[in-house]
Amino acid sequence: MGIASNIEFIDSEINECCLRVGRKRSDVRLMAVSKFHPQSAAEEAFKAGLTLFGESRVKEASEKFENFANGRADIELHMIGTLQRNKAKLAVSVFDCIQSVDRNDLIIELNKVCEHLYDASGSSEVQFLKIMLELNAGEENKSGYKDIDELFFAADTALACSNIKISGLMTMAPFTDDTKAIRAAFSNLAEAQKQLQRRFSDCDWSSLSMGMSGDYKIAIEEGSTILRIGEAIFGERNI
Ligand SMILES: *Cc1c(COP(=O)(O)O)cnc(C)c1O
Repeated sequence: MGIASNIEFIDSEINECCLRVGRKRSDVRLMAVSKFHPQSAAEEAFKAGLTLFGESRVKEASEKFENFANGRADIELHMIGTLQRNKAKLAVSVFDCIQSVDRNDLIIELNKVCEHLYDASGSSEVQFLKIMLELNAGEENKSGYKDIDELFFAADTALACSNIKISGLMTMAPFTDDTKAIRAAFSNLAEAQKQLQRRFSDCDWSSLSMGMSGDYKIAIEEGSTILRIGEAIFGERNI
């Protein structure tokens, strides 16, 4: 199957699922996770209508997207992998949003990088880097904040950073066939969103990034607004 027909198929599955659970299709975005796939594959997905892309490595994303996406307002690129502090500077210049923020020192580092970058741009407008906070959903996945108290602290940290803007939460379900455990991870994230919304009502918590190739229908049922799909669009990764 080709990339375009894969996208067409997933899109119809999303449509059907939204209809079944009474959600608006326009509230669910399909992200193409193009990591480990070449630029030509990402371009094919773009031609097939996708404008939101996810990558897990800064350098790979920078090289892949610099020619084809640079300066295009209609392409949005999100970081979804663990970000090292020493890559923060390049990450800020490459990505529109860092979804995988999992440490407070990373928030502070990103803010510092933004201050320099935005100062240098000479614009008098305040510019923001969009971030999302990652919630850890299982023992075998090490990244992400551990619980709601850590998320509260992270939100406090981000609110004190003048160039950072929170836009929501992300999680990765545990790697398991146990759909109950997967559903629990997603409903946890939705519950965390409610609590954060209550406590930090001035922030935007509207984005819930959850659901991958194997579990995106459960994610839609639990309220996902961003589905991060790799293999089901591009096929298996060669790593
Ligand atoms: C690779 C990756 C995905 C996509 O996974 P697939 O199973 O290929 O759909 C989604 N989210 C994150 C954080 C990833 O690292």
